[in-house]
Amino acid sequence: MTSPTSAAVSHVGKIRSQNQDSGYAGTHLFLVADGMGGHAGGDVASAIATKRIAQADRSYPTAQDAEQALRESLIAANGLLADTVFEHSELTGMGTTVSGIVRVGEQVALVHIGDSRVYRYRDGVLEQETSDHTFVQRLVDTGRITPEEAAVHPRRSVLMRVLGDVDASPEIDTKVLDTRPGDRWLLCSDGLSSYVTEEKIASILGSFRTPQAAADRLVRESLDHGAPDNVTVVLLDIDTTGEVDATPATFVGSVAAPLSFEAEVDRRPLRLPTLLLHPLKATAPEDAHFEPEREAYLEELIEEDRRRRRRRRITAGVLLTLAIAAVIGAVTLAYQWTQTLYYVGVADGHVAIYRGVQATIGPITLSEVTQTTGISVTDLPTFERESVEATINAKDLDDARAIVDRLETAADR
Ligand code: CA
Repeated sequence: MTSPTSAAVSHVGKIRSQNQDSGYAGTHLFLVADGMGGHAGGDVASAIATKRIAQADRSYPTAQDAEQALRESLIAANGLLADTVFEHSELTGMGTTVSGIVRVGEQVALVHIGDSRVYRYRDGVLEQETSDHTFVQRLVDTGRITPEEAAVHPRRSVLMRVLGDVDASPEIDTKVLDTRPGDRWLLCSDGLSSYVTEEKIASILGSFRTPQAAADRLVRESLDHGAPDNVTVVLLDIDTTGEVDATPATFVGSVAAPLSFEAEVDRRPLRLPTLLLHPLKATAPEDAHFEPEREAYLEELIEEDRRRRRRRRITAGVLLTLAIAAVIGAVTLAYQWTQTLYYVGVADGHVAIYRGVQATIGPITLSEVTQTTGISVTDLPTFERESVEATINAKDLDDARAIVDRLETAADR
């Protein structure tokens, strides 16, 4: 008896109320789809696409045949999504990512659009086989930002390509890769790859023997990180027999539930073509929207980012100015307060009345002589002289004058 060589797990996550991901682990075909498009469109899009593409789960003579069939099935799914939107205008703007593989002997045909991912895990090394069709990945590819900047970029969830009703001939990536017994293929939605590090993913793939246990653990890991997004994991082990996958075909996520969008019609407003965002992956950047990959649009987005940075700099400048003004105000008030105080001290060997406090801040002296007297400190008795030299605080100018009078009397004695 052959043990299962594949597994599919999908979880709604900890924050969202609805699972818009779909997954499929079939006989030859394995795929994930991550839907988007507001209240109900996302789950519909990924479910429709997954069901349609699952029809391509057949035996193919060559990996190139499988590659071609996959491409055609994605284009067919894209048409089906457009037809569905035509009949249900409230679904306008729905779309879905699709990442899928078909195994043909020692090769794997891969198809990909969006930001779900396919990884090959071999000899302890995890290798990403897909490139995210995101705005930030485009910026990284063209050397405009670093991968580190991309990870925290405000537009990191904006997709440049998906299946949906936007583009009649979407640009789909396909390729053929080699595989061999011992390889483990991981397909996942960004609900995994955005929250669990590749290091951690590799360590889990290396430590759980069965695909089911590894897939469960990967989803668990995302949940342990808060799982703000839906998370879907499909795993395929390439076994030593080289036979087809013995596990019964499995649908998970939105595609496993009945389509419910018709009941939603009255509740959803008509939407304009749309925010192709994964809503909780990031704070939605204002006015973000989907556009096919046009260089002009990219430039527009980059310019907008520049404007945003400039705005941020101006805001920072204004705040700094206000802070400085507040400090100056406080210092001025404090200085004015010191100037209501008086004390009696010595100036040029004579008793004098000072206004302010006997202190300096850097080059600023906080007191000045306001009245000199003819009383020489050397004429004062020891106690009074030492008191004046140490300065005598007065409540106000009258009090200071009274002190001077007393000192004059003492000097005359
Ligand atoms: Ca997602």
